Amino acid sequence: MVLAQLGGSISRALAQMSNATVIDEKVLGECLNEISRALLQSDVQFKMVRDMQTNIRKIVNLETLAAGTNKRRIIQQAVFTELCNMLDPGKPAFTPKKGKPSVVMFVGLQGSGKTTTCTKYAYYHQRKGFKPSLVCADTFRAGAFDQLKQNATKAKIPFYGSYMESDPVKIAVEGLERFRKDNSDLIIIDTSGRHKQEAALFEEMRQVAEATKPDLVIFVMDGSIGQAAFDQAQAFKQSASVGAVIITKLDGHAKGGGALSAVAATKSPVIFIGTGEHIDEFEIFDVKPFVSRLLGMGDLSGLMDKIQDVMPADQQPELLAKLAEGTFTLRLLYDQFQNLLKMGPIGQVFSMLPGFSSELMPKGHEKEGQAKIKRYMTIMDSMTAAELDSTNPKLMTESRIIRIARGSGRQIRDVMDMLEEYKRLAKMWSKMKGLKMPKNGKMSDLSQNLNIQQMTKALPPQVLKQMGGMGGLQALMKQMGGKDMSKMLGGMGLGGD
Ligand code: GDP
Ligand code: MG
Repeated sequence: MVLAQLGGSISRALAQMSNATVIDEKVLGECLNEISRALLQSDVQFKMVRDMQTNIRKIVNLETLAAGTNKRRIIQQAVFTELCNMLDPGKPAFTPKKGKPSVVMFVGLQGSGKTTTCTKYAYYHQRKGFKPSLVCADTFRAGAFDQLKQNATKAKIPFYGSYMESDPVKIAVEGLERFRKDNSDLIIIDTSGRHKQEAALFEEMRQVAEATKPDLVIFVMDGSIGQAAFDQAQAFKQSASVGAVIITKLDGHAKGGGALSAVAATKSPVIFIGTGEHIDEFEIFDVKPFVSRLLGMGDLSGLMDKIQDVMPADQQPELLAKLAEGTFTLRLLYDQFQNLLKMGPIGQVFSMLPGFSSELMPKGHEKEGQAKIKRYMTIMDSMTAAELDSTNPKLMTESRIIRIARGSGRQIRDVMDMLEEYKRLAKMWSKMKGLKMPKNGKMSDLSQNLNIQQMTKALPPQVLKQMGGMGGLQALMKQMGGKDMSKMLGGMGLGGD
């Protein structure tokens, strides 16, 4: 079962239970069985599923729950907590610090995505102000060095490797020395894989680790390997002191249960996930938002209430009309930012958004995210009306960008940054084009005109996936009953990617 469907199945099970008039032993049992089935189909290890059932039963004692308490909430909360616990080994992974030299070694089977992920990891940190470097200690696979070289060059990251040398330990040590001299604060060592778990590979891994003494060993696992995940992760854990996990290929038909199994087997947290072949298709992995998204967006109703509260009713028809035209101008973005800032602790709002890219508002950095939005708004304040209302992407010429930067007292790079963000959102919102408008233009009436097909078209695939596809969406709509779906879509526009 694909990760997204897992979320859909679990939320359906919970919704079904919520529909029951009385939640008794039988209803709870059915719900838990349904959830277990979904987890098993997602390749979560049998033992883990059984433990989860037991734990939930311990928390949820129907008889002792006082009359009138909200059983559904308690059960939902228990499922949430259990899933979080499964994904959270309790201790955070080593995180490199800027300016302090760290060595990070990547291990994993051949084809799991090590080389790709090394570059993504380096690029991610480079954008955060690190000075990363890449060492290719894979002498096993033909063309390994070329591949790393190509990736590194594209991302402008210094690299080291050799076409001649066949001893990976020697290359690793040489690379380390070189980049230590260059003051790199994040030296990343890519190692070779094998087609399966072989003694020779593990021995090589041990030797490279011994010679380089990495601060962190990251185990890279292909997200689509199914039930093999637990054993594979355990085998790597036993041979190298794995401290963190990265799951790749979660963009395809990956089975999400592997993530849970890998955490259990390595007792190490998942720190990032790979969602594509491209260098920036890489996301920070945060347990709680991940699970709440997986579980069918209980939070979304809260978000909609918030949006309903802060968005002036008279702005709603205008927004809708613009969306129906498929025009997402900078002015519209400005208005949305204003709305978002009004919503108070902005991180709270953002964490509710499904599919939210952690770029704009990384968890624990809500203040910075808020500052960024304000900065964007200052930049937009220096734009002309024509620029704000334009739908022509070619309008933003170099001279205009320079003028805007000067006018707002920001760097040219900041203006480019803001325009990039705008483009990303505009692309997403353009999918709303063709939405049928209610006659009086009121948001609350739009929901009647929205059908599932339209909604699936409007949502970015990533978001839709996380909601559990069509099925999940249907369950969600039912769950939300009379709630106004259009508000939700409006809100998500600023979060999706
Ligand atoms: P390695 O043998 O472990 O170094 O694996 P590579 O980095 O060479 O990756 C193997 C293949 O998987 C390549 O074709 C990559 O482009 C692809 N790949 C890696 N990560 C991802 C991902 O997150 N999503 C997708 N779709 N493909 C990926
Ligand atoms: Mg490789």
